[in-house]
Amino acid sequence: MKLVLATRNAHKVREMSALLAGHDVAPLPDEVDLPPEDGETFAENALGKARAAAAALGVPVIADDSGICVPALGGAPGIRSARWAGERATDADNLEKLRDSAPAAAELEYVCVLAFVDPAADVEETFEGRCRGLMADWPRGEGGFGYDPVFVPLDEHSGRTMAELTTREKDSISHRGRAARLFLAWLASR
Ligand code: IMP
Repeated sequence: MKLVLATRNAHKVREMSALLAGHDVAPLPDEVDLPPEDGETFAENALGKARAAAAALGVPVIADDSGICVPALGGAPGIRSARWAGERATDADNLEKLRDSAPAAAELEYVCVLAFVDPAADVEETFEGRCRGLMADWPRGEGGFGYDPVFVPLDEHSGRTMAELTTREKDSISHRGRAARLFLAWLASR
């Protein structure tokens, strides 16, 4: 299927293109504006982006909203993960804030909601993937992005952080991988 991926995040483009291999995934054209992420949930934000791009382009679109939730912090930063340390925060700033806010071995959870909007068929669907982990005592690894250097996934038993896994290993257990596989199964059953 031909799909436009409504994101400006280069890491997400790389991960989603691999996860949706077999489909024709095109990048978001520069002229399409995405709305601000001002929803109260991952699903609202993902749908907002997918709807805006689908309305502008008239073709099927997928968008994701994702983040890290810390149960000991009441689920923060959650939908605010990208800007937790400030409007212009870098991945390194946000990672430092997480290390200042949660001790080693604290429970963590990645959440991803993938939204699919097909304007011609009048279809909207969302797919949610989660991945539980523990806070590493020290950042480790060069792969992935964002909070990956301190996220030790529970589904992987070597004790490595997400940033130490291969792309294929991360995809097989990640929140984004799980949401993408739910989407692919749904597409195949349509
Ligand atoms: P958004 O979905 O563009 O609002 O941003 C999600 C934010 O959550 C990213 O900027 C990262 O800080 C974090 N995040 C989401 N997925 C991942 C991941 O797979 N690894 C590390 N950080 C992630």
